[in-house]
Amino acid sequence: MDIKNLNRRVTAARREVEARGETFYPGPSRIHLAAFPPKERWDDWVELDSKAWPDRVEKRYMLVPTTCFNCESACGLLAYIDRDTLQVRKLEGNPEHPGSRGRNCAKGPATHNQITDPDRILYPLKRAGKRGEGKWTRVGWDEALDDIAGRIRRAIQDGRKTEVMYHVGRPGEDGFTERVLAAWGVDGHNSHTNICSSGARAGYHFWMGLDRPSPDHANADVILLISAHLESGHYFNPHAQRIIDGKQRGAKLIVFDTRLSNTATHADHWIAPYPGSEAAILLAIANDLIQRDGYNRDFVRRWWNWQEYLTHEHPAVEPTFEQFERILKTLYREFTFEFAARESGVDASVLEEIARLVASAGTRLATHNWRSAGSGNLGGWQVARTLFLLNALLGAVATPGGTFPNAWNKFVPRPIYMPPHPPVWNELAWPAEFPLGIFEMSFLLPHLLKQDRGRIDVYFTRVYNPVWTNPDGFSWIEALTDEQKIGLHIALTPTWSETAYFADYILPMGHGSERHDLHSYEQYDGEWIGFRQPVLRAARERLGERITDTRQVNPGEVWEENEFWVELSWRIDPDGSLGIRRYFESKQQPGQKLSIDEYYGYIFEHSVPGLPEKAAVEGLTPLAYMRRYGAFEIRQGVGALHEEEVPAGELQEVSIDAFGRTYTAAPAQASPNIVPQPAPEPDAQGRRPVGVQIDGKILRGFPTPTGRLEFYSTTLAQWGWPEYALPVYIKSHIHPDHLEPGQIPLISTFRLPVQIHTRSANAKWLDEIAHTNPLWIHTIDAARLGVRTGELVRVETEIGYFVVKAWVTEGIRPGVVACSHHMGRWKLADAGQRQMMATVGLQRDGGDWRMHRERGVEPYDSSDPDTARIWWKDVGVHQNLTFPVHPDPISGMHCWHQAVRVRKAGPTDRYGDIAVDTEKAHAVYLKWLSQTRPATHYSPDRRRRPYWMMRPLRPTKEAYALPR
Ligand code: SF4
Repeated sequence: MDIKNLNRRVTAARREVEARGETFYPGPSRIHLAAFPPKERWDDWVELDSKAWPDRVEKRYMLVPTTCFNCESACGLLAYIDRDTLQVRKLEGNPEHPGSRGRNCAKGPATHNQITDPDRILYPLKRAGKRGEGKWTRVGWDEALDDIAGRIRRAIQDGRKTEVMYHVGRPGEDGFTERVLAAWGVDGHNSHTNICSSGARAGYHFWMGLDRPSPDHANADVILLISAHLESGHYFNPHAQRIIDGKQRGAKLIVFDTRLSNTATHADHWIAPYPGSEAAILLAIANDLIQRDGYNRDFVRRWWNWQEYLTHEHPAVEPTFEQFERILKTLYREFTFEFAARESGVDASVLEEIARLVASAGTRLATHNWRSAGSGNLGGWQVARTLFLLNALLGAVATPGGTFPNAWNKFVPRPIYMPPHPPVWNELAWPAEFPLGIFEMSFLLPHLLKQDRGRIDVYFTRVYNPVWTNPDGFSWIEALTDEQKIGLHIALTPTWSETAYFADYILPMGHGSERHDLHSYEQYDGEWIGFRQPVLRAARERLGERITDTRQVNPGEVWEENEFWVELSWRIDPDGSLGIRRYFESKQQPGQKLSIDEYYGYIFEHSVPGLPEKAAVEGLTPLAYMRRYGAFEIRQGVGALHEEEVPAGELQEVSIDAFGRTYTAAPAQASPNIVPQPAPEPDAQGRRPVGVQIDGKILRGFPTPTGRLEFYSTTLAQWGWPEYALPVYIKSHIHPDHLEPGQIPLISTFRLPVQIHTRSANAKWLDEIAHTNPLWIHTIDAARLGVRTGELVRVETEIGYFVVKAWVTEGIRPGVVACSHHMGRWKLADAGQRQMMATVGLQRDGGDWRMHRERGVEPYDSSDPDTARIWWKDVGVHQNLTFPVHPDPISGMHCWHQAVRVRKAGPTDRYGDIAVDTEKAHAVYLKWLSQTRPATHYSPDRRRRPYWMMRPLRPTKEAYALPR
């Protein structure tokens, strides 16, 4: 159905509903879905109790919105709170949420499993034996807070500002904790991003200064995905529904995926290229556009930094666009369809057909690469860079149906306080070898500690499980059990994890319906803000109760992090003498603690355009509006912000450089929107970049050094990588040229659509659907090995092996195997999750580690009768333990794909056996490190990193200087 037909049907439906005297309920979905309770009745919604059937028993609910925490999409949820018991009965979609529009994947409603999980951690725990011994004692929050605060205070007072580290897995919030760390003055932020998405981010960042795409799938004519984006990936549910909208309009869907994913099954064109060859295909498509003059000449002329490219690389050539076009025709001419076919194993005629389809899209080409090839391969960042090249050639950038820079479609409000940048640089997170790394080199931490590059006195892991999620988990265990290297480890977690076993404190944090956070993500051409909240708190406040601490409504002593950080900060600086406490004080009541209501109330009142007015229409404060509806759409149809003319008022004492970059002496306009932007350098007089001059007009442009899209990256050229300054093809570490005899690639990155890394082990509905991760192996390879489905195979990596079951299928390319990383959860002792964690034995002899499965999961009695009905035993195999680290020398991304040998299991092999040599793992780390070009040798300006590039918790400019 096309969009006009859809609109006609919506209009007809509205007339029909209104003719019956009922309220039409379009919500932000703009589609009448009768299943949604009208928002006017959210205080007292009546449904029949399904469990009472066949009796008709009415249940009365209060409906309270919140935001799902089970992936990064931040979809809206609506908690159904029983008015009699004041307990959450279920969670469904929030129709008032503009991003998710009332829809969720299976993981959203499964939040209910998480909050009622009989095995969840309800009280703060302190280790009683040695680290990792599995002995715990319950402690009070006060004891834990005082101990942790005291250590942090001493570290700050002693000037050990790099010894406090907060290592986050799923952030699920927009900057709150970064500001906490900034207030403490420490460079202590560490993230999981370099095991997740840095590859793709780098590719986008070098082009446009921003690190994410925002494809307008719904209005596209052609959608090109290099990922299983309909079932997983960033913002997949909000994107997936818009991809389907686009398909209903007639858009064609192209999917590159070596594996037959659910996404591939929905494609008009699915190809299964050899992993790592994706950039070669994309360059062949680009070359075809270039050779046939099929690109958008005017867009390329106006927005590419071709003049800078000619000046640097072809100084003898007259710097005209015609000369650039002549050279452009030579740059990619070896990328024929035949070349791409040889690299990818996909027929040249198929690639040509796809190229024609891409060309037909014009400015309506929506593209996306997130993890997938971008995170699997050495040079994977060039997959995103070559993918965006297609958009840049066609001018499909911030157009209807094109691909936007993420910041155009994301809103980050100004908070109540903005602490200053910390004055230190943490080399454990940002080592000199990776000056262009997009995020912290988090997964190298055990190796950096092993090399005595520093120590950590206080280490928070927050919703982060590196022992299980990261590669090389045994090296993590070695680091976490060494108290000389990590003085105090605090696991902030809503659930048990393999990493929490190696903590000193386990502090229970709330799930998605038990905590506050803010979100805004690029999901369509518009901007919205979403509010996560503890739903029982909001419900009881609706009933007139006053709640001052979320522990008053959460189960046990489960806390939310906002209140925890405020309290901890006060205890670090009880008298305010460290200058920390002032960032956690009330403005309304000076000298008092900042309350969560004041924190969010301030933001909603002062920093979200249109929200106060909208709330006033309903007689609500902005905070009350967000508590009631959970989300607010700021605007739709943002459009091409880079084309906006800079107002004359912003142009004072302007200077314009040779390439049109325009600088102004005028101060930055106070804008409520403080989307984290890169910081292009000022000019020699200290004037700030404000835009770029194009055809005589000064336009906003992009936050790159030139203000244009950087086809040629001077940054890459100047920081030691001139050969990669243009979008090019880098042969992956698993390219056939690099494999030893008998090795084949293992794709280890794909997600199971119904699982969430660490936090779904306690979601019984999800566990019942998906609880194992067999090795996908093609029928040809299986026949060669003599293996049938269900039989055991041993998969050998560079540092060890794992034993797993085979799944023989034609849904994967021959000569490639794949195994999902979502499985293989384990526990050492009886404490922990019992629905999805196998009990294992662990042996260590120096660097030689062995793990064997003692037993799988079993039914058990608990407060939830369903746990007695568990019928599955298998929970998969923890393959990531057997992977060494593979840091890409430019993006810093861990290159996940593995070169492996697959053998039929031997007579002594048992399912789930794992063996690893961590000495070998360290040697692999050193080998990859030797491929880097460190700032100490390659920095053009004696800085650790280009100042203009994004960096979480950006330190002061002075801290960027390399030591002399
Ligand atoms: S896509 Fe699913 S898991 Fe992710 S936020 Fe939405 S409902 Fe939650």
